[in-house]
Amino acid sequence: MADYEYGICPYDDTHRIMLFRMPKHIVKCEKNYHGPPLKTCKYNATHRVRDMEEHLKECPYYLQSLDNEAVQMALTTRIAPMLEDGHDVSTPL
Ligand SMILES: [Zn+2]
Ligand SMILES: [Zn+2]
Repeated sequence: MADYEYGICPYDDTHRIMLFRMPKHIVKCEKNYHGPPLKTCKYNATHRVRDMEEHLKECPYYLQSLDNEAVQMALTTRIAPMLEDGHDVSTPL
């Protein structure tokens, strides 16, 4: 049997749910939930938290997206000087 990764249900920390089942579980659990409203993480819809700012400090998906942005920025910066050249002979006037 394969090892599945488990996550803890944001609505009830006694629920241990297989990660691939989490989205469905959350929808079900949300309906039975009567506590304070939770916000949905932009970076992973299965993350439901009360304090988004605190969550983003440790959200692996958010931190990964920051990494990607940094990589993208580095690439853009490297390409930029060529674009600034202004002598684009391939474009007819
Ligand atoms: Zn649950
Ligand atoms: Zn998150």
